[in-house]
Amino acid sequence: MIIEVARLGQRLVRDDRVTTHAALVSRAFGARRIYMSEASTDISDTLRGVNRTWGGDFEVVLEEDLKGIIRRRKADLFWTVHLTMYGEALDAALSRMARLEKMLVVIGAGKVPREIYDMADYNVAVGSQPHSEIAALAVFLDRVQGGRQFGVTPAGAARRIIPSERGKHVVDGESQGS
Ligand code: SAM
Repeated sequence: MIIEVARLGQRLVRDDRVTTHAALVSRAFGARRIYMSEASTDISDTLRGVNRTWGGDFEVVLEEDLKGIIRRRKADLFWTVHLTMYGEALDAALSRMARLEKMLVVIGAGKVPREIYDMADYNVAVGSQPHSEIAALAVFLDRVQGGRQFGVTPAGAARRIIPSERGKHVVDGESQGS
């Protein structure tokens, strides 16, 4: 499954930490790219550094015309999944998503225009209570991939973590560990 994320809208007060977390969660949970209008170039640099250390080629794309991105991705046969507390229940939506090969997951940073609800192929609620775009994104990406994203080691990692019950066990990317 090819997954991209678009983060729409801007917070009233720019918060680079939250924006960085949206990008980090997208990368760690198996998306290949995030489009956002709010991000500073520092966020792209941070994610490039994370790729250098932990592998993969995740991209942060700074883009003002996010509706244009949705239109272009639809033309490329990506299904648009907009996460909103007003949407249909997650379990009901997931049961119709098993065969989707390409997906653009849309989250809001601030108020999302009504038009996006109509452009989306799916409006999906991760519970029908307000919480956070990052929490909604993490839960959705995990559920739609059935946890398989955590079994993938990104290519070209300089360092790799060997899961352990206690302490930190980190090896060079090429090493098999012990
Ligand atoms: N009015 C909101 C809504 O439509 O979900 C909550 C705004 S919240 C500050 C920002 C973003 O978090 C929303 O645009 C949505 O992407 C995500 N979000 C928050 N709660 C959610 C939920 N229960 N299910 C899915 N997405 C949610």
